Amino acid sequence: TAEELRRRLARLDGRGYKAYKSLQGAYDLGDFVLHLVHVQGDPFATPSRVHVWIPQRHAGFPEWSCRSEARAVGVAHLLARTFTEKARRISRPRGSGHSGLIEMDRPGQEVLPRTAVRLTAEGVEARFAVGLPAHGRRIAADEARALLLEDVPRIVRESLRFAAYDPETVRTFAEVNEDATWLRAQLPAWGLVAFVADGACLPRRSGVDERPLETGAVPFASPPSLRREVVLPSGRRLTGMGIPAGVTLIVGGGYHGKSTLLRALERGVYNHEPGDGREFVVTVPDAVKVRAEDGRSVAGVDLSPFIRNLPSGIDTRTFSTANASGSTSQAAAIQEALEVGTSLLLIDEDTAATNFMVRDRRMQRLVPGAQEPITPFIDRVRQLYETRGVSTILVVGSSGDFFDVADTVIKLHEYRVEDVTEAAREIARQLPSERMPAPDNPFQGPPVRRVPDPTSVSPQKGKRATYVRARGREMLQLGMAVIDLRAVEQLVHVAQTRAIGQALAYARRRYMDGRRTLPEIIAAVLADIERQGLDVLDPGGLLDLAGFRAQELAAALNRLRTLRVRV
Ligand code: ADP
Ligand code: MG
Repeated sequence: TAEELRRRLARLDGRGYKAYKSLQGAYDLGDFVLHLVHVQGDPFATPSRVHVWIPQRHAGFPEWSCRSEARAVGVAHLLARTFTEKARRISRPRGSGHSGLIEMDRPGQEVLPRTAVRLTAEGVEARFAVGLPAHGRRIAADEARALLLEDVPRIVRESLRFAAYDPETVRTFAEVNEDATWLRAQLPAWGLVAFVADGACLPRRSGVDERPLETGAVPFASPPSLRREVVLPSGRRLTGMGIPAGVTLIVGGGYHGKSTLLRALERGVYNHEPGDGREFVVTVPDAVKVRAEDGRSVAGVDLSPFIRNLPSGIDTRTFSTANASGSTSQAAAIQEALEVGTSLLLIDEDTAATNFMVRDRRMQRLVPGAQEPITPFIDRVRQLYETRGVSTILVVGSSGDFFDVADTVIKLHEYRVEDVTEAAREIARQLPSERMPAPDNPFQGPPVRRVPDPTSVSPQKGKRATYVRARGREMLQLGMAVIDLRAVEQLVHVAQTRAIGQALAYARRRYMDGRRTLPEIIAAVLADIERQGLDVLDPGGLLDLAGFRAQELAAALNRLRTLRVRV
């Protein structure tokens, strides 16, 4: 109880910091339970871990707010956002080091299942960090009492109870998330790979600020020929642009908004919070952004559909390198996406290797096929769709040769979208590209499935059997190795990176046996998370984790420089 905690604190006053350890345990504070899960070793170390449990009779969230998983996740996002804001305002320094700090994993624009806040029919669980107060390295009991029995309860009551909110706000977070999840799930049945709602705000505030552009944003407006009307589960009616399965080009002049549209589609694999502007911009859930990434490592990937007959005589059916070129890295990214599974590739010419994408008739004439190791993407994009059912959305401002292979052509002009499919066809008729298409179709067999060698994946560092750290969103340390995730653009939050790090260690322990294929291993890990929640990766509940896709987990493993595989 609170009394018990108060008494224990009084006894600790002025003692060495380590004595705080004796506080570990759960305290019933009346309307919620405060669980000191892990106490830090000193005031400057990583802050202490706290779990809070508020049973629904005190939290008061109505049944409708968590009726579906999507609703519960949407509302939990609101709670986490509010908690982080209240914590920033209410917590204050209470001594040396982190003394007085209260900090929760801060959600971004994407609504992800998170361990930081979970809402169920039974109640709300929240996990966060506190800096137990000290003067120097001596326990400051009065400050600790104020932190744990005043600051924390106030933040909890002002952010984790239904009564703290306007009910309409809660309803919006629940319904928008459910609507978006539903909309994404309908796409295949409608023959679409993406949907962009009319009125959506796509541009962001800056390259480092994912919030919506505040002034001057041109709202999205669908061209009539691609317009769809939908009625969402909440009853909300929407119109917007449906992008059909197949090969779609996004064309238009420089600076007219092509990359911005593609970026919104990339992120459309996730839901967005109300007010983001991309709430109803959704893409099939397995869409993969592919780009060039020279310098990355590649482990035993079959690049032969795109690259063969390298001058060195290297066999590109099991291609490995510690230092890929632009084109080999892009070929590897596509083959890896096919291996783990995807129904939509997203490519922006801004981040693609030109020689990988297209070779025009004149260059074909000068450097005949037999001398050129690369079969450009333009020769494979239709085969990918027709043979494998994999669609592509491609931003190209530079080459009209792609008109020959496109099903749909969308033009951006001053941020407004036009359907120019017919015009592009007409131009292709009048000005034939006269390219010679590739003679073969390499996508007829099943994709190669690689078997990771377990000895090549080690989360071990020194004496520690498992050392995994996310260093920001883009860098993941696994044992002695550092995995560079900068080019994995659909990884959107550090809590995802952290979860993927844990998932790699978990996969190594549980499923890498030298027999299972990479997609089998990834599927097994995701199935465990689906059944048992993210806690399966961190049974102690010490880490802030967020949900992630098979595609990003595979991308991380594929970028581990020590990885070796058998095919
Ligand atoms: P492109 O890829 O065609 O060269 P970008 O997508 O990079 O163009 O967009 C160029 C600029 O226009 C960016 O600063 C972007 O934020 C802004 N922008 C994009 N779409 C819109 C829009 N709908 N309204 C206002 N500004 C936009
Ligand atoms: Mg661009």
